[in-house]
Amino acid sequence: METAFFNTTVECPICKKENRFETIRVGAYVESGRDTDFCPLDIKWRFPEYANCNPLMFFVATCPNCLYSREFNDAFKGWQKDTTFKTYRLKRVKESHLEELAKDGSIIKQLGEMIDAKKRPTETAIARLLLAIFDEKLNERPSNLDMGRLYIRIGWVFRGMGGSPSVTEASSSDAGSGIDSKMKMWSDSLEALRTARKALFEEVESSASNGAGSSEEKATRLRESQESIIAHEAKLFELADALSKELSAQSQDQDESGESGASNSGVLDVFTLLSLLKQKWDGVPLNEREALKFAAECYQSALEDGKEVSAGNQQVQVCYLIAALSRRIGNYDQAQDFFNSALKVGQEFVRRYQDDKSRTALARKILELAMEQSQVNREARKEALAQ
Ligand SMILES: [Zn+2]
Repeated sequence: METAFFNTTVECPICKKENRFETIRVGAYVESGRDTDFCPLDIKWRFPEYANCNPLMFFVATCPNCLYSREFNDAFKGWQKDTTFKTYRLKRVKESHLEELAKDGSIIKQLGEMIDAKKRPTETAIARLLLAIFDEKLNERPSNLDMGRLYIRIGWVFRGMGGSPSVTEASSSDAGSGIDSKMKMWSDSLEALRTARKALFEEVESSASNGAGSSEEKATRLRESQESIIAHEAKLFELADALSKELSAQSQDQDESGESGASNSGVLDVFTLLSLLKQKWDGVPLNEREALKFAAECYQSALEDGKEVSAGNQQVQVCYLIAALSRRIGNYDQAQDFFNSALKVGQEFVRRYQDDKSRTALARKILELAMEQSQVNREARKEALAQ
């Protein structure tokens, strides 16, 4: 194997542009295993130049021309042969996508501006995954299963970023002049303010979800006040970003060589960009927990739909995932219900096809995980109740 990627040319169904998308070659990286929600662990590339590359960046193909985005799978690669898509879905999606794209400051455009595969791989991965969810939602009957698969991956990207937001690239550039260093000091302070706010809200959130006495109405009021604070905070970051760009433009005017000019990438990081987007689209998750919550909701809708999830392996897998995600977001009762469903459905399936070991291999693997994780969930629930 000489390269990590190969190119596949796919015509954009919306704008007709011929795009070449990169696909990761099998074996280009190895994983040490999978987390309990199937998130790949410890990815090691065989090509050192991709050491920091997140494979999730390539899960979705985004048209560089019109930003139409879809999971980069065989169905999309062969969309021209997909008569259902061409006859019943394409027209509506095309019209709605182009209409949204044409709007000033549209969600599609804003997400498109986050994409920069070389400089901002994490933001790019999140933006592409969100674009694909946005475009899926334009369908008359969006696939909950597909959206769940995209949301869970956004959760994994957040997980890979660690708990606290990284210091922005702009502020790590040399703090040369007085204005630059003071600008940096201010944006670092804003960052610290946000980190403290996040820690506070997480604490509030966990104590609220554990407390049995709090009413629904109180919880809603609390959530509203938190959202309002986050919105104001995002506005402050936006203003700081504008000022930073203005200052950097001025310093570049003064210094023709541009060498000492601060980076004009601004101070906006992915968390702020997403907070701003969330004001327009509620489906934007701001952290891992929220992304996993959305994923669990999509998988639940898929299950309730009755047609989306096929019996057997897929049903076991979906029940298990709802349970595993519910446990991760602290919804222990719901987790228990779905661990039980996964075990029931899985055991029935394995019993029915007991002579066909390859058919039930996946279900048996998930059954084992479900038993183990159901125990973990019971202990977590007990602990939460004791607090
Ligand atoms: Zn296009």
